[in-house]
Amino acid sequence: MNILVINSGSSSLKVDGIDSATGKRWFVGRAERLNTPGATVKVDDSPLETVVDADHGEALRKFWSVLSHQKIDAVGHRIAHGGSRFPRPVRIDDTVVHTIADLAPLAPLHTPFHLKGISIARELLPDIPHVAVFDTSFHTTLPRRAYTYALPADLAEQHGIRRYGFHGTSHGWVAARAAEFMRTDIRDLRLITCHLGSGASVCAIENGRSVDTSMGMTPLEGLVMGTRPGDLDAGVLLHLQRNAGLDVDGIEALLNKSSGLAGLSGTGADMRDIEGKAAAGDERARLAIHAFTHRLRKYVGAYAAVMGGVEAIVFTAGIGENSALIRHRAAQRLEFLGARLDEDRNRDAKVDADHPVVEISEPGSRVRLLVVYSDEQRAIAQETSMIVGKSDVVEGALQIPIAISARHIHLNRAAVDVLFGAGHQLTPVFDLSQPGQFACAEKLTVVGPKNSIEGVRVLGPERPACQVEVSRTDEFFLGVDAPVRDSGDVKNSPGITLVGPAGSLTITEGLICARRHIHMHPDDARRFGVKDRDVVEIAIESPDRHLIFGDVLIRVNEKFRLEMHVDTDEANAAELAKGAKGVLDSTGVAAKLLRRKTSFDELA
Ligand code: ADP
Repeated sequence: MNILVINSGSSSLKVDGIDSATGKRWFVGRAERLNTPGATVKVDDSPLETVVDADHGEALRKFWSVLSHQKIDAVGHRIAHGGSRFPRPVRIDDTVVHTIADLAPLAPLHTPFHLKGISIARELLPDIPHVAVFDTSFHTTLPRRAYTYALPADLAEQHGIRRYGFHGTSHGWVAARAAEFMRTDIRDLRLITCHLGSGASVCAIENGRSVDTSMGMTPLEGLVMGTRPGDLDAGVLLHLQRNAGLDVDGIEALLNKSSGLAGLSGTGADMRDIEGKAAAGDERARLAIHAFTHRLRKYVGAYAAVMGGVEAIVFTAGIGENSALIRHRAAQRLEFLGARLDEDRNRDAKVDADHPVVEISEPGSRVRLLVVYSDEQRAIAQETSMIVGKSDVVEGALQIPIAISARHIHLNRAAVDVLFGAGHQLTPVFDLSQPGQFACAEKLTVVGPKNSIEGVRVLGPERPACQVEVSRTDEFFLGVDAPVRDSGDVKNSPGITLVGPAGSLTITEGLICARRHIHMHPDDARRFGVKDRDVVEIAIESPDRHLIFGDVLIRVNEKFRLEMHVDTDEANAAELAKGAKGVLDSTGVAAKLLRRKTSFDELA
């Protein structure tokens, strides 16, 4: 597909015509210094013209004058902030535009220019699909513990204050290229991707999902960047307000324009210039480099700890792809992690669209160091073509229906004989959602040391072993202590007494508190990117609450229909209504830890 990718920044406009299948560019338009006397508009590196005070509209129309004969299938717009509302790209319609506009307070410096880009492009190309691709989408898998700031919960909730993360398209793209290069399923990898451009961020990617990232609610947090300071004691800003007379605008300018490498070096934000000055002995430039690489190493170490290890560290974007010096300094003390830099490979590394990955670690290095070409525009083109190609992709296609499973009993043949009389056949009254399973007319009394519960329904068909599934509240009431288990896993669980019309039976094991789980068909598993026995987190969709069920077990079987089962207690606690739906929030961490037989408590 021929996709036009539009990246509309505050003073710049990048427009790329890309064949989404091959990545081949058929148009490259760049406008810079927009809204200033020196505004320039270039196509394919040759200046079209300098248009004094050109704005985004004029620039786009100039590009259009060159482009209008082209067949264009769709337009992909890069959008910096999608809040937590857009976990994947969406087709743009008026509702989407309004939602992006509603999120503008989260990205006041970027959103107005994105909206401008969308509006002009929709005017010029009204008859083809426009798609919004968000920098934040890749990070919607962050677990709560990673996205939560330690502020009063109500205040944070009210103002949408949490970590969103940025550069998601780039982190996702380079991680996929790294996995291909390593010939390993991305779901078996822990990666740390370092996007080092004029803005810079690090991302911890476990099993293909972002589990932590250094940029926060805004792109100001984390690494030292071209003109932004990255992590900063919030007290510094209070101090400057009180003692240096800085108001909000002053602080905004300080944090966005005059800090970072530019502030430290005094020679501007361009790493090439800073490296040149440092080589010539300039102290400020040297400190800028040291502060930059120290912060970077700190994040790499932190993210290795977050994931309990790392298989590869990826360098990308302008500095990451081009600066052997920065990579050398960033990697020089990572041997303790098992990452050994090969200095020759590092010095000679060159990546481009045709050779997107180069390894710079020594042969045999346990952790591999890779340089990967970041092609955000191509990634956006690809995402756009996928959304347009699947015209039936509906928002919420990945929703999981939730069913509330009440206390129930499974019986084996011998137990049916004792409780209901020899040769009795269970009577199906209605089918359950999972094929072949049915609720029976038969009910039993469950007798515990403290109390009994009458009328507990038997489910068919008969099974090889008896199993009684109760909720936590039932346990307290009965006076028993049942382990949380997967259905069928009754080994070493306590017994219980059952009373039926024909007799009573005390089973010696089989009482469990069922673990919440999701049944799914292998096709669903592929769509969700999970495997049988993975453990995931599920967010419950509701307009006014954000609720997450952790420790949800995935069960994959040809016979299963997509459904999550929670018990009555949990449903009550979560105020789940009939027809409630969940969405997959985060897999990775839990699944991997469990596969390594690590305690789930570590995840808390
Ligand atoms: P963005 O797209 O965020 O504006 P880029 O990914 O293009 O940024 O990266 C810009 C940064 O990359 C600049 O700081 C620039 O100095 C740096 N850079 C580009 N080439 C080199 C190089 N050969 N050596 C060091 N830094 C480089």
